[in-house]
Amino acid sequence: MHDGLKNKGLATQAIHAGETPDPTSGASAPALHMSSTFVTDQVAGFSAHDLEEEAPYLYGRWANPNVRTLEAKISMLEGTEDCICLASGMAAATAIFLTFLSAGDHVIVSDVSYAGVAELARDTLQRLGIEVSTVNMSDLSAVSAAIRPNTRLIHTETPVNPIGRLTDLVAVSEIAQGAGALLSCDATFASPLGQPSRELGVDLIMHSVTKYIGGHGDAIGGAVAGRKELIGKIRNESAIHHGSIMSPFNAWMIARGMATLPLRMKAHQTGATAVAEWLETRGVVAKVIYPGLKSHPQYELAQRQMRNTSGMITFQMGDNATGEALAQQMIDKLQIVHYAVSLGHHRSLIFWMGTEALMETSFRLEGAQLASYRSYAGDGVFRLSIGLEDPEDLIADLAQVL
Ligand SMILES: *Cc1c(COP(=O)(O)O)cnc(C)c1O
Repeated sequence: MHDGLKNKGLATQAIHAGETPDPTSGASAPALHMSSTFVTDQVAGFSAHDLEEEAPYLYGRWANPNVRTLEAKISMLEGTEDCICLASGMAAATAIFLTFLSAGDHVIVSDVSYAGVAELARDTLQRLGIEVSTVNMSDLSAVSAAIRPNTRLIHTETPVNPIGRLTDLVAVSEIAQGAGALLSCDATFASPLGQPSRELGVDLIMHSVTKYIGGHGDAIGGAVAGRKELIGKIRNESAIHHGSIMSPFNAWMIARGMATLPLRMKAHQTGATAVAEWLETRGVVAKVIYPGLKSHPQYELAQRQMRNTSGMITFQMGDNATGEALAQQMIDKLQIVHYAVSLGHHRSLIFWMGTEALMETSFRLEGAQLASYRSYAGDGVFRLSIGLEDPEDLIADLAQVL
């Protein structure tokens, strides 16, 4: 699909992959194809099982030119054979689980993960008869010990939302391979620029493209990148049968945002490094977690595994009452940073995440797993997504409350 771009740089690839000037009008920018169906000269073939590789467009639930453009850009940057874009990051996670797991299978899921994924694994998957183990993925012996004869999938997330703990992908992929299981990784925090997930051994690279890939906070979407055979299975299951497709309009907007992803990630990293270093000088801040800081508990792994340490900072501010009171001050006083969930946008965003509340609703950790979480998060963290504003303006804004 994009052979001519293989040896080009990431910035060139992000702009040109999946796009060609319109053959009829000569338009340089991609046209938006809001068409649910496509005129065909094929007489038969209406089942997902009849779908041929590189078949012409037939119906929008199977494929759409704008969605294919975005899929081409993501697979190009991830270095994978193919990619599928779906309605949201949660649709992408659901697609991985429901395509590769059946009743009686076993999956190992990171004990800390995006809250929606944590709840999906603990509630929905178990209800469907899938065995689920939740494991601290930074503890390799715990991952090995969790393997069972029916383990089909290991699902991790690195850096993990919201605490910024890392998974050693090479080490976990070796464990997965030894068990004959697939390794999927939610790389939303890292973006395709943050780590070479495929080279590190990940079979299924998942993104909430709502975040860095779209980058502008105006469209929700998800993606899974990997080998053609695996992505084809997801397309049959999740797009054609479950119907969780991405709208062409969202794909068009997200592809436009993605053209500047390599440039944006450099700026996110520069801004986050400046703000993280400033936060470390503030006496009121108890602890700052950022993979680009020497104080990160896995700094050595971050240096080895990450090419860009991204824009996500986590910091502790004392107990839950202190955190909530400070969150209220932020709501009242911050003028540039928005107090809001989500991340990876050009606008900076901050949100308080109390440990006790997250444990009750999503993670439900105890013992050593809870202790590891608390070593990163204490009683709670502010999750700060550094946008593309001038770092000195972000620091001045935050200095009003910190
Ligand atoms: C936001 C997010 C998701 C879910 O993505 P949606 O697009 O909101 O469905 C999954 N994983 C991570 C790490 C996220 O940050």
